[in-house]
Amino acid sequence: MVESISVLGSTGSVGKQTLAAAERLNIPVKAISGNKNIALLEEQARKFRPEFVCVFDGEEAKKLRIALGDTDIKVGSGLSALTDCACAFAACVVTAVSGSVGLIPTLAAIDEGKRIALANKETLVCGGEIVMRRAKEKGAQIVPVDSEHSAIFQCLEAQGSKRALRRILLTGSGGPFRGKKREETRNATPAMAVAHPNWSMGAKISVDSATMMNKGLEFIEAMHLFDITPDEIKVIIHPESIIHSMVEYTDGCVLAQLGIPDMSLPIQYALTYPERAEAPYHAPDFTALGKLTFLEPELKETPCLALAMDCARRGGTAAAVMSAANEEAVALFLKEKLCFGAISDIVSDAVGILAEIGTPTLEALQDADEAARRFVEERFQNY
Ligand code: MG
Repeated sequence: MVESISVLGSTGSVGKQTLAAAERLNIPVKAISGNKNIALLEEQARKFRPEFVCVFDGEEAKKLRIALGDTDIKVGSGLSALTDCACAFAACVVTAVSGSVGLIPTLAAIDEGKRIALANKETLVCGGEIVMRRAKEKGAQIVPVDSEHSAIFQCLEAQGSKRALRRILLTGSGGPFRGKKREETRNATPAMAVAHPNWSMGAKISVDSATMMNKGLEFIEAMHLFDITPDEIKVIIHPESIIHSMVEYTDGCVLAQLGIPDMSLPIQYALTYPERAEAPYHAPDFTALGKLTFLEPELKETPCLALAMDCARRGGTAAAVMSAANEEAVALFLKEKLCFGAISDIVSDAVGILAEIGTPTLEALQDADEAARRFVEERFQNY
């Protein structure tokens, strides 16, 4: 079990569940960060007594500094404070921020040899090669929190070696619009898109689940985390979300990890790994479930998943452009400024126009990320 944690994104869905797990497991919380929700950050700071709180937004940080004036808790703001939060206080950092903002703090924590409990998939989608190479050099352990990747990680751990791995079977529920045609969902509202049938999650990832971009991001995340090729990953739609992913070995045997669809389980495992600890959860009730079902993904109806699989094969800056353009497009959709169907159109255009091949440096990836955000903004003005 880790001896202490920092939580980047403690006010988000995974962040809140991480703090609940830390409380249950008696793990000291040394630093937390949020974007703007200072009321909740103050509450969390008073309860967990971290040494440091980062509020990404500078103006809100000033307010929190005043609010916590009667304590000795330090408050910082911006990317440098987020980076401090990741690498200066605890043995393990849980990266639960949403978006590519997690990349630089994660790299800094890797440089310090911290354990990374990785819940921020955009970090690997944008800079996967650099992050994984750096982690190997520095001996920093990356333990996935994403339920699918936690499942694959656990299946690989059970075997002890990746040598006999044939492929990974990456499962996904299909999201709230599973089985629907593209025309039927073109004008879906944010409320419809965030209503996930199985998982309770933040707004951005819920929209990503509706477009199936989430499975696409996870495809790229898996490729980097487990050092495998796109051809060694098969996406399978599994509506019940009981199997969280599977690993197929060269002898045809398959190992799967199963559990109720609740992020508390992979979060706790990332904190207790390589041990397991008691938790107030039960295994699925299999006889009540009766059956589990599996389907091929409909790539024609889910252009975001198809695009992500294509970006995985293209390499270069394609995935970074896709992920950043998607962040911006989803933000516009959530503000009801862009229709649901336009998300995949605009992201696909950004990749088509901006993606470059080759082996990009960190700076080139950051430039690609910014260019993609500008592209979406400009395109949106002309919509
Ligand atoms: Mg997932």
